[in-house]
Amino acid sequence: MSNVHELNYLKENIQQLKEEGVYRELPILEGPNESEIILNGKKVINLSSNNYLGFANHPRLKKAAVDAVESHGVGAGAVRTIIGNMDIHENLEKRLAEFKREEAVMVFQSGFNCNAGAIQAITQKGDLIISDELNHASIIDGCRLSRADKTVYKHSDMEDLERILRERRDDYNNVLIITDGVFSMDGDIAPLPEIVELAEKYNAMTYVDDAHGSGVLGESGRGTVDHFGLHGRVDFTIGTLSKAIGVIGGYVAGKKTMKQWLSHRGRPLLFSTYLPPAAVAPITEAVNMLMETTEYTDKLWDNAKYFKEKLSTLGFDLGKSETPITPVIIGDEAETMEFSKKLLDNGVFVSGIIFPTVPKGTGRVRCMVTAGHTKEQLDKAVEIFQKVGKEMNVLK
Ligand code: PMP
Repeated sequence: MSNVHELNYLKENIQQLKEEGVYRELPILEGPNESEIILNGKKVINLSSNNYLGFANHPRLKKAAVDAVESHGVGAGAVRTIIGNMDIHENLEKRLAEFKREEAVMVFQSGFNCNAGAIQAITQKGDLIISDELNHASIIDGCRLSRADKTVYKHSDMEDLERILRERRDDYNNVLIITDGVFSMDGDIAPLPEIVELAEKYNAMTYVDDAHGSGVLGESGRGTVDHFGLHGRVDFTIGTLSKAIGVIGGYVAGKKTMKQWLSHRGRPLLFSTYLPPAAVAPITEAVNMLMETTEYTDKLWDNAKYFKEKLSTLGFDLGKSETPITPVIIGDEAETMEFSKKLLDNGVFVSGIIFPTVPKGTGRVRCMVTAGHTKEQLDKAVEIFQKVGKEMNVLK
């Protein structure tokens, strides 16, 4: 009998990944996350971060972080519900609620644990969750933790969503429809006005994970709800503070009642130490900056349009993206990883995204254009895409 502590069963799984050509070592970034980075010792253009607005290394945010360390120390010292709740956390939530034009905001330690904690807390036995089939993994995990029944509807398919509501609404107390605002792997926007209409028709609640819409869509990045003018008609809006905002954390925006309940049953707030001052203060500063000017979101969209137009003209398949998320669809898993590797060899970092993150056979390299990129960097990246695309014969 083999020694279980040698983890041979995991070694076999890893060997399998290697044989499929999808095993990878984690790249190491030396220095800040910017549009040009030092990766494994080499200078490359970075087209893989969620740092949409270039805030991750912004001087104003860094100063806010340093000042907060001086005034409030390096740790919150406890979970929020015991003694981890500082004045700076309260200020942040007030400012975020103003920005989102909602009654209240509850901040969590990450977007992931926000979904994991909130979905579980706001649904109960006797409820039904109806979730888009392409929703993010943290939503799937949140649903798994919930005691409600769950079902999925075909991606952004309103007929399928209505069929489920028609057939099953009356069997449940509450029904919660969950969708990403912007889908992270394809960059398409959820048909939110139609979802809200169906929810109102069938007396269901709505929950929008706007991790990739916050800081990107709507007036100065207020998100997908603002983009469609649906304020007051979406029950729970989730945002992340780790992507456009550039730091770490997640939040639910909505009614005061939501916040009161999550203070008692949002498990990450009860059982995991709260956000440190060095994270909280720069987030507030980032929200202030978005409330001052649309300069950052304007630059983001300008860059995204510029880059997408160039790639598309060259004949790359960009799927159905409507946002700065720019997937370049390759298909085969091993070929996708090879494409990504060749791009890196030539000076541009774009990670390959393959199963299980996306369905088998839809491998892609996913380019994330940011406000921080210069036109020169984008031109250089396009040149490299063209060269590698020709070499690998993936141009249409
Ligand atoms: N929701 C979506 C749609 C996401 O793309 C992500 C990040 N990959 C998350 C939630 C989790 O956010 P965070 O990285 O802040 O934990």
